[in-house]
Amino acid sequence: MTLLITNARILTEHRMIERGWLYVADQYIRAFAAGDAPAFDVKRIIDAEGATLAPGFIDLHVHGALGTEAIVGDVDGLHQMSEFYARHGVTSYLPTTLTAPHSQIMAALNAIKQAQTTSRGAAILGAHVEGPYLNRSKAGAQFPEFIRLAAMPEVQELLDTGVVRLIAIAPEFAENRQIIAACMRRGVTVAIAHTAASFEEAIASFDLGIAQVTHTYNAMTPLHHRDPGVVGAALADPRVRCEIICDLLHVDAGAIKVLFNAKGTEGTIIITDAMAATGLGDGEYGLGAHRVHKQGKKVTLLDGTLAGSAITYDESVRHFVQAVGKPFHEVWPVTSLTPAQAIGEAHQRGSIALNKLADLVLLDDDLRVQATIVSGQVVYQRAEVA
Ligand SMILES: [Zn+2]
Repeated sequence: MTLLITNARILTEHRMIERGWLYVADQYIRAFAAGDAPAFDVKRIIDAEGATLAPGFIDLHVHGALGTEAIVGDVDGLHQMSEFYARHGVTSYLPTTLTAPHSQIMAALNAIKQAQTTSRGAAILGAHVEGPYLNRSKAGAQFPEFIRLAAMPEVQELLDTGVVRLIAIAPEFAENRQIIAACMRRGVTVAIAHTAASFEEAIASFDLGIAQVTHTYNAMTPLHHRDPGVVGAALADPRVRCEIICDLLHVDAGAIKVLFNAKGTEGTIIITDAMAATGLGDGEYGLGAHRVHKQGKKVTLLDGTLAGSAITYDESVRHFVQAVGKPFHEVWPVTSLTPAQAIGEAHQRGSIALNKLADLVLLDDDLRVQATIVSGQVVYQRAEVA
């Protein structure tokens, strides 16, 4: 398969090409330059007509869409999620499990592993295990009954599936902290999540190797000037990358700007945390063992607790650039390169560079998705783009 994209504004890893072309062969980016394309013999040409060609979005934290979710362990459902996310510019993602009985998480991981080999749309890079090793006092929409302390044999079983890329834990418990080293040895990134840790406990967990902060601000100790909490530690410590939900319901636009100004493009990761009701109308849906209510972009437990988002990745990006007051071409790594680095994928994804996989998104001036390309295959193209 060969593909040529012409007349694009290209956000390459190191500079922006105002008007140029990009050539893809055998799934990889093989050449790009400014100006008119040389005469390539290609299967397909896309004239971008001045649209922006960026690395495809990478969503490290997303539970579901279209009525299905990763925790139910349905391979077909995962394929539907992949296709839905691709329509929103996502080229790869980590289906994210929820706090549940061990057997259910294992079944979900096995389904994710299976879906990985046959996926359509966005590529599945592995699994994100969010819970069950969390703090019940910060459960949010994680089912509290199944929150428990980590036990090494159980964790080994999760890791032995070979599909886990990211695991989110509350490190204020010694039992949970003891899994950090084992995860790191397997190349699994560990995040701090749903946690009541103090500032000092959070920093100590970063010393042990925790490298990511799950949906920063949400379900963690807040920043108070005499008690700076996990949020303070996340903002202060350059070793950790911070996830942020940009639906403007979980976090105010001002807080997004605070985070970005503290962490920069290298330390900020847009995630959706989207759940099963994403892409569907208002009503009642499942979320793991919970029932939730969706109205507009807001999803809540019946007691009003926010229960994941119903936002798409491209809309999150539009909110983010508004919130931080910067053009997309200055902040694009928060959608691709930084999440790729967070899980050790940056050698083959996350930026437009020679011999990286051709995972690309074509965006109009309003940051709406015109086309999505995964490993050189056009998996989505908006109707009016020929
Ligand atoms: Zn969460």
